[in-house]
Amino acid sequence: MTKVKKCCRNCGSTNIKIDAWAEWNEETQEYELSQTFDDAFCEDCEETGSFEDEDIPAETPKPSSVGSDSSNSSDDPVSG
Ligand SMILES: [Zn+2]
Repeated sequence: MTKVKKCCRNCGSTNIKIDAWAEWNEETQEYELSQTFDDAFCEDCEETGSFEDEDIPAETPKPSSVGSDSSNSSDDPVSG
């Protein structure tokens, strides 16, 4: 499944908040999201409006660090 992130249409920031309703859940003693709306607010550029989805590329395993073996030979076997 491809993950997406919500980006501000104006500045591209992901530091956005959206309008939503929350309901109190007596069992978990926490608020649960009841409904979300498309209206968004960007905390970076303070733009209000909508946002857009942007695909998050799948994480690729980092290559194992190769042992740095830099041998500097000052003597070049170059006959002049
Ligand atoms: Zn923004």
